[in-house]
Amino acid sequence: MSQIRIGVDIGGTSIKIGLVEDTGAILEKWEIPTNQAGTSEIIVNEICDSIGAKLEKYGWTFRDAAGIGVGAPGFVDGKTGFVYEAVNIAGWRNVPLGELFTKRTGLPVFVENDANAAALGENWVGAGNQAENMVAVTLGTGVGGGIIANGKILDGVNGTAGEIGHITIDPHGYPCNCGRRGCLETITSATGMQGRPWKILRRTRIAAWRSIIG
Ligand SMILES: [Zn+2]
Repeated sequence: MSQIRIGVDIGGTSIKIGLVEDTGAILEKWEIPTNQAGTSEIIVNEICDSIGAKLEKYGWTFRDAAGIGVGAPGFVDGKTGFVYEAVNIAGWRNVPLGELFTKRTGLPVFVENDANAAALGENWVGAGNQAENMVAVTLGTGVGGGIIANGKILDGVNGTAGEIGHITIDPHGYPCNCGRRGCLETITSATGMQGRPWKILRRTRIAAWRSIIG
């Protein structure tokens, strides 16, 4: 069997991990909660502990893997694996994420902005169907986007191309984790959807009931 690849998607709520074959087929996937109270080192260790235990199940160690691909939220330098800022994970500023993973596992590590990684995956073996040009939109704790143009991922400055979640929709809107107000992800992310629109809807319904009841 060819070497296994390890995929890690770090989100604000959970971390999704997969063992992937070289055809792109997922051998196994699982998730662990994001330890928002932990430092980046602690979180990387928790991820690697979880992967190590899973590899052991197959009689493998990290040495049996070809490498690790990591999708990280926020502003990422794909060449160095450096995360400038991940707004949905507390305290994640200037994290040498690639280095932390390599130190722990000894494997080559590729870090990408999570939405860019999703776009690459969808383009490779998913809905993108290896299209020359496509856009992927991700919905989770935040809202992200990845753009593939002429068969290549569009990185932009610090991996921010396609980061649609922080486009200002309402300058007087809800505060966003990035420090500004009214970003798209304050209303359209999974977290935003759970909270605010329902509050507005509930208020509207109560008002409607009141007008019916008189
Ligand atoms: Zn924002």
